[in-house]
Amino acid sequence: MMADRLSRTGLLRMVAGAAAQIRQHHTSLSELDSVAGDGDHGSAMLRCVDRMEKAVASGPGNCIKTCFQRIGWAALDADGGASSSLLGTFFLGMRDGIRENVSSLNCQELSVALESGLKALRKQTAAQLGDKTMMDAMIPAVEAFALAAGESKDIENSLEHAAHASNAGAEATKNLTARHGRARFLGEKTRGHMDPGAASTALLFQGFYDGLRESKGEA
Ligand code: ADP
Ligand code: MG
Repeated sequence: MMADRLSRTGLLRMVAGAAAQIRQHHTSLSELDSVAGDGDHGSAMLRCVDRMEKAVASGPGNCIKTCFQRIGWAALDADGGASSSLLGTFFLGMRDGIRENVSSLNCQELSVALESGLKALRKQTAAQLGDKTMMDAMIPAVEAFALAAGESKDIENSLEHAAHASNAGAEATKNLTARHGRARFLGEKTRGHMDPGAASTALLFQGFYDGLRESKGEA
C-alpha cells in the first residue's frame, strides 16, 4: 500500500488541481468581486495560481518546506491586491509549520502546517468567522482537516472534509454583511452574494482534493 505522505509530486498535483478550478471559475469570481469590490478577483487569482504552479514545478529540490516557501512567495509576487497578500501569508505560514529538509509530510504534519498557515493569517487580518471574507472558507477548511486527521483519516479523505467545509463556509457568506476589505464600504448591499475571496478559497481546497484524488496510484 502506498504510504500516506505528501511529497512534492503530490503537492504539484494539488496545486495543479487548484489552478484548474480557478481557471474554470475565474469569470464568476470577478463577477462576485464586481458586486462587492473592484472586479479583479478572478484575474488576481489566475495570476496567483499560474505562479504557484510554476513555483512547485520548477524546483529545485524536493524539500517540502522550500516548496511551500516558493508557493507563498509566488502568491505574494502575483499581485498587489488583498487576496494575493493573504494567500502568500497563508502559505508562508504553512512553511513555518514544517520541519527543515524533509521530502514529505504525513497527514498530521500537513495538519500542523495548515494550522500554522491559519495562525499567520490571523495575525494579518482581524477578520473573524462571519465577517464575510476568505476567512469564512479558510477557518472551516483548516479545522475540518485537523478533525479528520485527528480521527486518523488519510490525507485524501481529510482534504475531502476540508473541501466540503470550505464550500459550506463560502456558501454561508451569501447571507452575511461584509466588514473588511473593499466590500465593507458596501455593507448591506453585499448581502445575497458570496464573498469572492471565500469562493476562491473553497475552489482552492476543492482543487487540492481533486488533484490529489486524480493522482492516486502515482508516486
Ligand atoms: P482587492 O480587494 O485588493 O481587489 P481581491 O479582489 O483579489 O483583492 O480579493 C478580495 C477578497 O479578499 C475579498 O473577497 C475578501 O475575501 C478578501 N479580503 C480583502 N480584505 C480582507 C481582509 N482585511 N481580511 C480578510 N480577507 C480580506
Ligand atoms: Mg478586487
